[in-house]
Amino acid sequence: MDHPLTGARAGRGANRLTPPVTARRNDEAQGETSVTDTFDFVVVGAGSGGCAVAGRLSEDAATSVALLDAGGRNDTWRITTPFGLALPYPAANWAFDTVPQKGLNGRIGYQPRGKGLGGSSAINAMVYIRGHKWDYDHWAALGNAGWSYADVLPYFKRAENNRDFDGEYHGKGGPLHVNRLRSDNPIHDVFHQAAREAQFRVRDDFNEADHEGLGSYQVTQHNGERWSAARAYLQPHIDKRANLRVETGAHATRILFEGKRAVGVEYVQGKQKKQLRARREVILAAGAFQSPQLLMLSGVGDGDALGAHGIGVVHHLPGVGRNLQDHPDFVFVYASDYPHFVHSSLGRLPTLLRAIQRYRRERRGLMTTNFAECGGFLKTQAHLDVPDIQLHFVVAMLDDHGRKRHKEAGFSCHVCLLRPKSRGSVWLRSADPLAAPMIDPNFLGEDEDLEAMVAAFRTTRRLMETPALRALQKKDMFTSNVRTDDDIRAILRNRVDTVYHPVGSCKMGTDALAVVDPALKVHGVQGLRVVDASIMPTLIGGNTNAPTIMIGEKAADMIKAEMRAH
Ligand SMILES: Cc1cc2nc3c(=O)[nH]c(=O)nc-3n(C[C@H](O)[C@H](O)[C@H](O)COP(=O)(O)OP(=O)(O)OC[C@H]3O[C@@H](n4cnc5c(N)ncnc54)[C@H](O)[C@@H]3O)c2cc1C
Repeated sequence: MDHPLTGARAGRGANRLTPPVTARRNDEAQGETSVTDTFDFVVVGAGSGGCAVAGRLSEDAATSVALLDAGGRNDTWRITTPFGLALPYPAANWAFDTVPQKGLNGRIGYQPRGKGLGGSSAINAMVYIRGHKWDYDHWAALGNAGWSYADVLPYFKRAENNRDFDGEYHGKGGPLHVNRLRSDNPIHDVFHQAAREAQFRVRDDFNEADHEGLGSYQVTQHNGERWSAARAYLQPHIDKRANLRVETGAHATRILFEGKRAVGVEYVQGKQKKQLRARREVILAAGAFQSPQLLMLSGVGDGDALGAHGIGVVHHLPGVGRNLQDHPDFVFVYASDYPHFVHSSLGRLPTLLRAIQRYRRERRGLMTTNFAECGGFLKTQAHLDVPDIQLHFVVAMLDDHGRKRHKEAGFSCHVCLLRPKSRGSVWLRSADPLAAPMIDPNFLGEDEDLEAMVAAFRTTRRLMETPALRALQKKDMFTSNVRTDDDIRAILRNRVDTVYHPVGSCKMGTDALAVVDPALKVHGVQGLRVVDASIMPTLIGGNTNAPTIMIGEKAADMIKAEMRAH
């Protein structure tokens, strides 16, 4: 499949994109070939954080950067066409399961995670949200100097090229394209009308200092195509920057240490075991599940837990893998005859074919949908300082993350709790670096979260019961008999799962459970940083792609400043 923009051939599996910049040696130990090249920085994981930090560091031709990802190039139409989100794409998704959740009646949750260039930004719903000013001021108040809203706003703006908004809160000219949807779906007017009927504020821009209200989301798209972190920070420079090497199909298996200094990364590519050496730093950007996994595999983590897997301890750091946080989410689902909802039956084939033709001609219409087209932020109680729930209004029936298909058309509305009290964990399932980690989000582990979700359910139902939305409902799929608080608690325990925002498992801070310091350096070792969603000390009130890209931007800036100073 050719790249839709560049015409370049898409890679399969292992794929060296630019030549090595330094020496190579062959190591025949154990019959395997290990190719060792040296770079200033070796970055593991080409997701939102990894692309941003590698892209920015490699702007300086004198700084050599290698970026590894276990997945592929992710440049086929199935990734770049927003509608592709509706089609399962196993090669670009780690598709993890959680351990049985005690707060969810023992159910096993699903945790999709992007694999390959762009990471989760290559498979996400493209909603562009930064979180609330309060969140970053809270990070700073926890002891993370340099991470207040005033400190991080310039990095959000530096990343952004916002087509619709400018002024104090927005950037123009950054690599990340942000704009309104081009789906032209008239449902937006219905949703805004419903918001007014329920007496919620209708808001145009969710990325100012406050974000309370409902409306239409902006998305990370450009000209109707998905704009992943890879398209923003990496793909324009692949094969052009001689100091940037990108390896796909390259699964990092451990960080190499000399004493307590990280000096490189070992990885498997195809059947070969290889190494890359880092002159300055190894940067982990493997995401909220796999960054802690790789630290533990490499001997950095809770000493007892590592010992149980026979892993020698490089540094006892008990916080690695703890403090996992994710947004618990409930989805209202309705069948509907409204003609602008997405539908998988053959009867709608002519509509789909027309939509494909329009997309090819204009890059507009149904094929540009991110599905979660509308939504916003609400307070379940008037006295709260900041909104505590977020809604995602989806133009299709969404059951079990889209894994259970329904014949009828319809719509859905997610509601998630923005700052849950429950804390989960990521542990090793085994010492096999290719095994999935053991993920426990501990959803609804704290009763306070369950009660907050009851209020979230009632607040969202106010919107679902407005005349504007009632008029579209043919059948309430799961909640028609849910009336009392006990009914709500029961259905929450039966149906809550993730809305895909795990963070916090390598948290930034200065306390005993902190994994990185405010410069994102791993405590107790040298030459090692973490630059991804795992460093967030607390979950922000919103979607996590833009915040993770901000983290990558700020990390690159901090590293460049340190390099200038030495
Ligand atoms: C289905 C879904 C929908 C979402 N919707 C939205 C949305 O609409 N808006 C929003 O803001 N956020 C959304 N998110 C969340 C957001 O995309 C993520 O929070 C963000 O992309 C995380 O960035 P990251 O850098 O921490 O990790 P990732 O982007 O997940 O990147 C990690 C990368 O590391 C690689 N990797 C992992 N382990 C290894 C290894 N051992 N060796 C080599 N490579 C490795 C992975 O393949 C991956 O490419 C969604 C996420 C998902 C999954």
